[in-house]
Amino acid sequence: MARGRDAHQARVAATAALGRTLSRRARNRCELCNSKTSLAVVEIAPLPEEPDPEQAVIVCSRCAALLSGRREEPATLRFLEETIWAEIAIVQIAVVRLVRGLAAERIDWAERVLEGLYLDPEVEERV
Ligand SMILES: [Zn+2]
Repeated sequence: MARGRDAHQARVAATAALGRTLSRRARNRCELCNSKTSLAVVEIAPLPEEPDPEQAVIVCSRCAALLSGRREEPATLRFLEETIWAEIAIVQIAVVRLVRGLAAERIDWAERVLEGLYLDPEVEERV
């Protein structure tokens, strides 16, 4: 048990250490909604052996909750329509997954944005 806990804590520390790199990449803003408050690093599945900035985003607490599956009124999430065009692959991947979830619930704007979306094949493969 202790070993598992130590490994978990090491992972938490290594993930937090990505914060500097990701803050620079994101210019200290949430990579999903642009907010500047309470930013934290969130890893995006599948998790690499070591935390990797190419497999993580820095987001505000609201977007962190969204990424972990919290439901929000879809009409308040339309900022994703813009973020879905993010140039950073992992940001785009995270957003496409969220928008696909909304489209699966027949949310109109989400279906429309997916129709007009072009994904790089390399990104498509990872979504
Ligand atoms: Zn946010």
